[in-house]
Amino acid sequence: MFIGHYGVGFALKKFDSILSLGWLFIAVQLVDIFWTILIFFGIERVEIVPGITEANPLDFVYYPFTHSLVAFIIWSLIVGLIVYFGKIKSSLSKKSLSLLLGFGVFSHFILDLLVHRPDIPLMGTDSIKLGIGLWNYSALAYILEMVIFIGGVFIYFKSKKQFIKSKKIGLYIFTILLLVINLANLYGPPPENTQMIAVVGFISYILFASFGFWVDSEKKRI
Ligand SMILES: [Zn+2]
Repeated sequence: MFIGHYGVGFALKKFDSILSLGWLFIAVQLVDIFWTILIFFGIERVEIVPGITEANPLDFVYYPFTHSLVAFIIWSLIVGLIVYFGKIKSSLSKKSLSLLLGFGVFSHFILDLLVHRPDIPLMGTDSIKLGIGLWNYSALAYILEMVIFIGGVFIYFKSKKQFIKSKKIGLYIFTILLLVINLANLYGPPPENTQMIAVVGFISYILFASFGFWVDSEKKRI
């Protein structure tokens, strides 16, 4: 899943009026950010196999450090601990904030579980593999992702009542951009090679997180 994760990031903002959307975007995509780095250096592996699922040509051959259930639990706990002892601006108590961002990290597992074919290991490569496989039904996967993304954006708009005009326009453009990228991902040609996926993915995730910091950066908040 791709933009669905950002839908969750937008929605979680509802619980914290001060926390920057940028932190939420990093949390919900954290394991994919790590994944692009590990793919780039050949530590985890993905192959391009057109037709492996109806919606997505990626064969996630080996990704236990980022996408196994155990890895998700560990990353969520690490993030929870860092946030607890860190200094992120928030309207919540330290405990609630670490739970919120820890959940953000773990939410990635829940969404990926819905769309991936059974390729998400419990722990190592030889363990049981999980995945409901909605990517085998691209229309269904697309609708689900749209509902999560647009629902999340809607919740964000409702919870943050006041916008600086330029940021509101920026948010509209960002939303449309993600919708277009998602369409291109689903129906466009498969990516050329896995290094490209890693580089483009990494840059996109950093840009999207930067956008999150920008859009939530005004001093006056309601
Ligand atoms: Zn993922």
